[in-house]
Amino acid sequence: GSVVGTRGSSGAGLPGRVAQSRRPVIVEDARAAPQLARGEPLLVELAACVAVPMTAHGGRLHGVLSVYARAPRPWREDEVQALVALGAMASAALSNAELYQRVAEEKERSDAILANIADGIVAVDREGRIVLWNAMAERITGVPASEALGRRVVEALQREIASDAPEEAGERQISIERGGKEIWLSLTEAVMRDSSGAVLGRIFAFRDVSGERAVEQLKSDFVATVSHELRTPLTSIYGFAETLRRSDIDFGEDDRATFLGYIASESERLIRIVDDLLTVARLEAGTLGLGVAPVEVRRIVSDVVERFAAGTNGSHEFVVDVPEGLQAAADPHRLTEVFHHLVDNAIKYSPRGGKVTLTGRRTADSVEIRVSDDGVGIPAGDEPRIFAKFYRGERGALAATEGTGVGLFVARGLLAAMNGRVWVESGEERGSTFVVELPVSNAV
Ligand code: ADP
Repeated sequence: GSVVGTRGSSGAGLPGRVAQSRRPVIVEDARAAPQLARGEPLLVELAACVAVPMTAHGGRLHGVLSVYARAPRPWREDEVQALVALGAMASAALSNAELYQRVAEEKERSDAILANIADGIVAVDREGRIVLWNAMAERITGVPASEALGRRVVEALQREIASDAPEEAGERQISIERGGKEIWLSLTEAVMRDSSGAVLGRIFAFRDVSGERAVEQLKSDFVATVSHELRTPLTSIYGFAETLRRSDIDFGEDDRATFLGYIASESERLIRIVDDLLTVARLEAGTLGLGVAPVEVRRIVSDVVERFAAGTNGSHEFVVDVPEGLQAAADPHRLTEVFHHLVDNAIKYSPRGGKVTLTGRRTADSVEIRVSDDGVGIPAGDEPRIFAKFYRGERGALAATEGTGVGLFVARGLLAAMNGRVWVESGEERGSTFVVELPVSNAV
């Protein structure tokens, strides 16, 4: 047993010969065949040997299996055959072990990939039963793997996602329900086949594109709204200008003044829309220039209210209740813009008129101004969204009010830039109250 574990070089001696020929080498008496025994340490003490290759079905050579005898002896054909068979079996066992090891490693690797991949991956077998449902599939669909595995996709997702012609389907968008909400998936699909081409199952990969879809929707809504909002004043400006240009009609001074008045006010509306959009761009680029100074809140608020009161023909009653001397640290022009949007909304969203109230007060460490109306109010579910860019509430749209959905976004952005805040207190059918909070000015 002293040679067990020593490394025989397979390039030399008997093993080398076996390795090269892949055939058994037989030594009946080492002393009678010194050229065979050369370089073979065991054949100094031992006299006879059979060495066979360890290889299965002509595959890789795993080694050489050698059997020795102390005294010289002939080797029977059946003994050699048995050894050859043993070598082949040992080799097959080793191949299997290696294969198993490789498969286990590969499985571990693909498990790690599937668990960390950003796509939901789902595989179904030939019968359509789910055999794979990775962590992202759980996250996206809200269905845990324990519930999905072994079932059909229709059962797990309440809808079929497979296509009739998966090979041509390409990337598709489909919707599913998660927690009562519709979410959109971008889905690709592939058919798995074995080497003979028989279908083994299908594999689906998908991403949650609900957010992107919502943004796309918002963008196209916005383009539609803005084009409409710009088109309306442009059309009247064009109409009045064309009318004034007519040489066949002699307009009196009064008519001219009226037409020019419309052209001026419609141009103003255009400028305001474009200014709002510019402010949005500046807020997002962070290039908004601010001149913060002590600001007399009552003056700003009264100016805004006066301007609107002149245009409403008495449909709304305005109440300003702001103590004199209440000063906030703010940019006066930007603060005017904020109240412009809030008062504009208060009027727009109370189409049956009513009272618009602005109250100001000093709190422990800030200035608080509330803008209240008696209008349509804001549905509870809408409150988190109304400050979003381009968001327009359905009531606004239903009431066919003008707007681009950026007013509150601009108001919140401007206030944030001035270290202030704005939020809404509203109940359905009892009007809305927007609360603005600003830092107190330290200047006396
Ligand atoms: P716009 O008025 O152009 O739609 P805003 O950003 O100013 O855009 O307002 C967003 C949405 O918030 C409006 O479409 C409307 O649904 C809602 N909203 C804003 N102010 C009020 C208010 N005073 N009363 C009721 N709803 C309001």
